[in-house]
Amino acid sequence: MRVFKFGGASVKDAEGVQNLIKVLQKVGHADTIIIVSAMGKMTNALEAVVENYLNKNSEFGDSLELIKTYHFRILEDLFNNIQHPVFEKVTSLISDLETMLKRNKSARYDYVYDQTVSYGELISTTIVSEYLSEKGYANTLLDARDVIKTNDHYRDATVDWEKTQQLIGNKAIKKGLTITQGFIGSDSNNFTTTLGREGSDYTAGIFAYCTNATSVTIWKDVPGVLNGDPRVFQNTELLSQISYEEAIELAFYGASVIHPKTLQPLQRKEIPLFVKSFVNPKNEGTSVRKGQSLVPHMPCFIVKKNQILLSLSSLDFSFIVEENISEIFSLFHQYHLKVDLIQNSAISFSVCLDDKFHNFDQLLVHLKAKFRVRYEKNVSLFTIRHFTSNAIEFLEDNMDILLKQSTKETYQMVAKQ
Ligand code: ADP
Ligand code: ASP
Ligand code: MG
Repeated sequence: MRVFKFGGASVKDAEGVQNLIKVLQKVGHADTIIIVSAMGKMTNALEAVVENYLNKNSEFGDSLELIKTYHFRILEDLFNNIQHPVFEKVTSLISDLETMLKRNKSARYDYVYDQTVSYGELISTTIVSEYLSEKGYANTLLDARDVIKTNDHYRDATVDWEKTQQLIGNKAIKKGLTITQGFIGSDSNNFTTTLGREGSDYTAGIFAYCTNATSVTIWKDVPGVLNGDPRVFQNTELLSQISYEEAIELAFYGASVIHPKTLQPLQRKEIPLFVKSFVNPKNEGTSVRKGQSLVPHMPCFIVKKNQILLSLSSLDFSFIVEENISEIFSLFHQYHLKVDLIQNSAISFSVCLDDKFHNFDQLLVHLKAKFRVRYEKNVSLFTIRHFTSNAIEFLEDNMDILLKQSTKETYQMVAKQ
């Protein structure tokens, strides 16, 4: 079995879906599980539906209409025959979504979010599966929620590996071509859950682990993993081979080309991960596998935007000791703030935080009761793996630096955006 993942950018329009077939023609499609994300920016568009719905905004209807028109445009471009059953299937998914929202009584944002946003993947996989069938590629459409079981931590669900392994092993994967959704799963009450934004890569890792796949390929709009995000840095270069450990480090520091959770299941079974271009599928791209840490060996630049730099000191200038630190961390955990960098001295403690769930202001109330608190929002965290003095000089040029830190292999700096 091989696992392929096509992200939102690769299926953002009809041409993208047609290109997916071209990729399969070039690289083969026997015994392949294809994980597909929501088309284009549909997850963001569905997030807007959730906001409008819960806040009872007048834009609610328009935001839902946008989801319909986006997908119908793609359908019309792909299928000449308006009688094709796919039109009915997508219409019925959208009316399921409308009915679900009408009947819903919960005001819990995270729960409503997962029940809604998952439609992006449900619709995209329906379209891709029908289009493949239409073009003669027999395939099975699998509902990922029937096999990926999680806890009920909506928007950031944790996989129940035992149940998932059992379900995938038992029934899910037939020989041939299987299409399924990235990003989504279900809890023990069969409510839909999601694995965190950009979680489709992780789904690919889960399926690969549970089927003992020979490889995973994620198809991207870039030639592979580069030594920096090409949207941010100029003259980036392709990394041809990366070890699992190094890739985990790069993803952890924020190289958004691979979702950080994807690598661990692959590493455990030494399943190679390829990151390749969906435009030039025959090109080598990057392979993540056991072996040399980084080929070619060079500095890698990573930036994480919209972070918060928080500094705490004790109200009476006493030391910040283990007890305080453990209390601070349990608050971070409680409010789901991710800690990206830590620096502490005798009387102060600084961290760079990622507030994915917008809980920082609630956290502040607790912290202010016990500590002197300073913070700066909207800062960027820059990381250079395998830094050189030239690389640091290049990065620091024209930056308003708030904090820096380096270890043997990793240089980090927090700067104003
Ligand atoms: P997907 O369509 O699979 O969701 P993403 O948009 O999430 O794809 O990821 C691809 C993008 O990741 C690229 O267009 C690129 O801008 C960005 N990116 C960030 N860091 C890197 C990196 N180190 N190498 C390549 N691309 C990167
Ligand atoms: N569609 C989801 C997102 O945009 C998952 C993914 O694309 O990986 O976050
Ligand atoms: Mg993505």
